[in-house]
Amino acid sequence: RIVYLNGDYLPEEEAKVSVFDRGFLMADGVYEVTSVLDGKLLEFEGHLKRLERSLSELDMDKPEGFDDLLEIHRELVKRNDVEQGGVYLQITRGAADRDFVYPKDAKPTLVLFTQSKPLLDTPAAANGISVIFADDIRWGRRDIKTVQLLYPSMCKMMAKAAGADDAWLVEDGFVTEGSSNNAYIVKGNKIITRGLSNDILHGITRASLLKYASEAQMEIEERNFTPDEARDADEAFISSASTFVMPVVKVDGSVIGDGTPGAVSKRLREIYVDESRKRAI
Ligand code: PMP
Repeated sequence: RIVYLNGDYLPEEEAKVSVFDRGFLMADGVYEVTSVLDGKLLEFEGHLKRLERSLSELDMDKPEGFDDLLEIHRELVKRNDVEQGGVYLQITRGAADRDFVYPKDAKPTLVLFTQSKPLLDTPAAANGISVIFADDIRWGRRDIKTVQLLYPSMCKMMAKAAGADDAWLVEDGFVTEGSSNNAYIVKGNKIITRGLSNDILHGITRASLLKYASEAQMEIEERNFTPDEARDADEAFISSASTFVMPVVKVDGSVIGDGTPGAVSKRLREIYVDESRKRAI
């Protein structure tokens, strides 16, 4: 695999980052994942905008090459022959002697690599996934897409140990979001999902999905919902760049609907894939 590191396209074995990099020592970094369908990038503009916001919230400088990110994404997709999968991008504050205070003159590290994997026709998309609940004990700035992913990683392990696929996080009696996705339930014809705040990541998929859903005259309610409401929902699903819209058929052991992907979730997945594919660049 060819990866991109600070201006160079390199075989992955040759791409090396300093042990003093603050991404390594302090999780002082941000990231984005852009999906690829038909060899093209989905939602590139949205991911770029969120990346700029994450950098600015952390007072992190843009790395060299920032203005060429579209070209770098495309070049990596081409060089690695990615038809379906994603491009992972990470920016850290760079290497500096270890100190909690941000270094004045560190040069940000920019890394991109690709992952080829099926996104469209997966068993999870066809059959739905199951989720458990876990306490949301993450920090309070979940709107910044940082590389501090240990707790989400623990949540996936807890889910696996419980025979489930993923976890929905719960804080003060309400579901915030999934460990790496936004969470939705459907009641009657209403699509219900938590509103935007610092409590959740502002999903790029979420924003487009809600726009397409409202254009399709579907009813949306942005509000908090409880674990009980989720257990009793008619349908449930998640959204993220790499899962698009993924039906949830079991919540904390309760079967949702008839235990197969619901009509609203299936329709939203179709709409999302069609629309984002049309706009792919
Ligand atoms: N919430 C969290 C915590 C996430 O990690 C992600 C995906 N990285 C999302 C939501 C979904 O965001 P997006 O649709 O931009 O992939």
